[in-house]
Amino acid sequence: MTDAVLPRRVAMLSVHTSPLEQPGTGDAGGLNVYVVETARRLAARGTEVEIFTRTTGSGLPPVAELAPGVLVRHVVAGPFEGLSKDDLPGQLCAFAAGVMRVEARREPGWYDLVHSHYWLSGQVGWLAADRWRVPLVHTMHTMAKVKNRALAVGDTPEPDGRVLGEEQVVQAADRLLANTDDEARDLIDLYGADPDRVSVVPPGVDLDVFRPGGPDARRAARRRLGLPHRVRILLFVGRIQPLKAPDVLVRAAAEMLRRDPARRDDLCVVVVGGPSGSGLARPEELQVLTAELGLGDVVRFRPPVPRPVLADWYRAADLVVVPSYSESFGLVAVEAQACGTPVVAARVGGLVTAVRDGETGLLVPGHDPRSWARVLGDLLDDGARLRSMQAAAVRHAAAFGWDATVDATLDVYRAAARDHARRVRLAGLATLPGALGPADPGILVPSGRAPATAGRDAGLAGLGELAVAP
Ligand code: UDP
Repeated sequence: MTDAVLPRRVAMLSVHTSPLEQPGTGDAGGLNVYVVETARRLAARGTEVEIFTRTTGSGLPPVAELAPGVLVRHVVAGPFEGLSKDDLPGQLCAFAAGVMRVEARREPGWYDLVHSHYWLSGQVGWLAADRWRVPLVHTMHTMAKVKNRALAVGDTPEPDGRVLGEEQVVQAADRLLANTDDEARDLIDLYGADPDRVSVVPPGVDLDVFRPGGPDARRAARRRLGLPHRVRILLFVGRIQPLKAPDVLVRAAAEMLRRDPARRDDLCVVVVGGPSGSGLARPEELQVLTAELGLGDVVRFRPPVPRPVLADWYRAADLVVVPSYSESFGLVAVEAQACGTPVVAARVGGLVTAVRDGETGLLVPGHDPRSWARVLGDLLDDGARLRSMQAAAVRHAAAFGWDATVDATLDVYRAAARDHARRVRLAGLATLPGALGPADPGILVPSGRAPATAGRDAGLAGLGELAVAP
């Protein structure tokens, strides 16, 4: 692969969750959507993608075609059922062995690049890219240090092992993809990433699926979903866990009714999604809270739905509410806007980019249900403002197509390949007889960095510090 040439084939790693799963519950969410959408479009442009994911069922074939040019490879690593994401660090060796075996059956140079998603995959990608001598591009999706900085009350912090694993991946990757400038800053400030290796590439929205749907769209969507026409709908979409804070919406609804009991006749809160992450420990918690607050007649729960149906939910809603404690981007917020529905979101992480405060929705600081109740109530009552936000939301979301994401991703692939090739060349020079430094490139260590934390090309990354023989 040279500067001008696209990778022929990318090994994409998604250890802990499969692109074939329905997003919105368990471990499946935005990452899965991201992998599917980018892989399909990379393949359409001539770069084949093979996605490696862990086998989680006896009925899964070793290989499945997701789309033309996109294969999903199921790798056996541990029992199919009964392992949570927290158990997976113990299966990374088995997973990596499975990935290496697939490659070994192919002609040399089968993959031009490894793109790993989430830190668990980054650990495997580090090894694979090192052995295959190809660049590693990594996308974090979420980061332990960022999550732990803004935990919901009572939520479980991410363990130190994850922090350490993420730090290693940051050092090992030729390029890190960040969703937003904020995420790039976190990679640099919290994880010591080299700014030259961090590229900001915003994710996208499938603008063919998520679109406004015409003048009578809300009424039509409600009809299809069996919802009454004359209610005000506040919608939460996503994985139900403390981090996503659907309880803030439920508590805010209770507060809205306390302030104005007449709203009870027309307020409807809908939660679309299933339990996930630390929320799995108490999957009924939100339903219990709803009952405790006396909102059984106001709040409806729906299981996750495929994306065309989700588009109808967005169209049916008056407002989509995203009260997360942290969010690396927040695809739901952009999808809702693409359907013409304004978003009220927490002023955190990627949501600050996803929502234009005051134009396409509102950003709320903090998680006090009283402030959320005030903001939601005032906006629902301001028809003119809502209408102007609906139009602005569609325009804003139009900038987030996946094609732009894939264009930028391919640029990053090219840059990663260029840098990688240069470092490999320099490493070769550094190991010539007469060069200063250790002779085995596998144990090259630049001054002041220990091998364990210096990343896969410890010597390569630090070549500036190594004297190279003339
Ligand atoms: N989603 C879905 N069906 C559902 C609920 C969610 O397809 O019933 C998708 C949604 O379209 C979005 C993703 O799940 O693309 C959630 O992504 P987001 O970035 O909002 O949150 P994450 O899961 O990454 O934390």
